[in-house]
Amino acid sequence: KRGSDRIVIDDDWPGYSVDLFSHPAHYSGDLDSVIVPHGVIMDRTERLARNIMDDLGDHDLVVLCVLKGGYQFCADLVDKIKALSRNSTRTIPMRVHFIRLKSYMNDQSTEDLHIVGAEDMTFLTGKNVLIVEAIVGTGKTMKTLLKHVEGFRPKMIKVAGLLVKRLPHNTACLPDYIGFEIPNRFVVGYALDYNEYFRDLNHICVISENAKMKYKI
Ligand code: 5GP
Repeated sequence: KRGSDRIVIDDDWPGYSVDLFSHPAHYSGDLDSVIVPHGVIMDRTERLARNIMDDLGDHDLVVLCVLKGGYQFCADLVDKIKALSRNSTRTIPMRVHFIRLKSYMNDQSTEDLHIVGAEDMTFLTGKNVLIVEAIVGTGKTMKTLLKHVEGFRPKMIKVAGLLVKRLPHNTACLPDYIGFEIPNRFVVGYALDYNEYFRDLNHICVISENAKMKYKI
C-alpha cells in the first residue's frame, strides 16, 4: 500500500535549493531546503478533496480544523471541496469548526496537550466528521483528538493529514487521507511554525540549525 495512497519523500531526498523559488527575504539564511513546493501542495490537495468527496459526499460534513498549523491546509482543502461541489449535481452541506491543540515548544513535542474550542461539540452527533491536520508526527495528538470526537457519536470520522512523518512507531494511527510522507525532520511553512515564525512562507521547508538557535525561546 505504501506509496499508492500518498507521495513518499525519501530520507535521502535533499529537497530543492531555496534559491530556486521565491520566498520572503526575511527568512534568507534560515532555510536548508524546500521539500514540498507550494504548487505541489495545491495539486495534491485537489486530489485529496476528490477522494474525500468520493467517500464522504453522501451526508452533511463537519470539517474540524486543527489550529494553528492546519489553517492553510484546511482552507485550501475546503476550497477544493467547494469547487467539486459547485461543478457537480451531488453536493453536500459543509460546516467548518476550529479547535486548537498545542503540544510543541521549540521543536520538541511536550506531554501536556491542550484542546481549546472542543468543549461542546454536540453538533457532531450523527454527522460525517473530517479532522484536518497539517502534520502528524508521533500520532499522539491525533489519538487524543479522535478519542474526544468519538465521544460525540458522529456517523463517521475521517482524518486528513497533509504531512505524515516517517517514524517507527506511528503506523498504528495514521490519517485516512495523506498528502505526503516525509522524513523525520522538523519542517515549517504553509502555516507550520517554529515558535510562531515561518507561517508566512508558502513552501514546506526544512529550517537550518542556525535558524533553530535564532528563533529559540
Ligand atoms: P504528534 O502528536 O503527532 O507527535 O505531533 C503532532 C503535532 O506536532 C502537529 O499537530 C504539529 O503541531 C506538531 N509538529 C509535529 N512535527 C512538526 C514539524 O515538523 N513542524 C512543525 N511546525 N510542527 C510539527
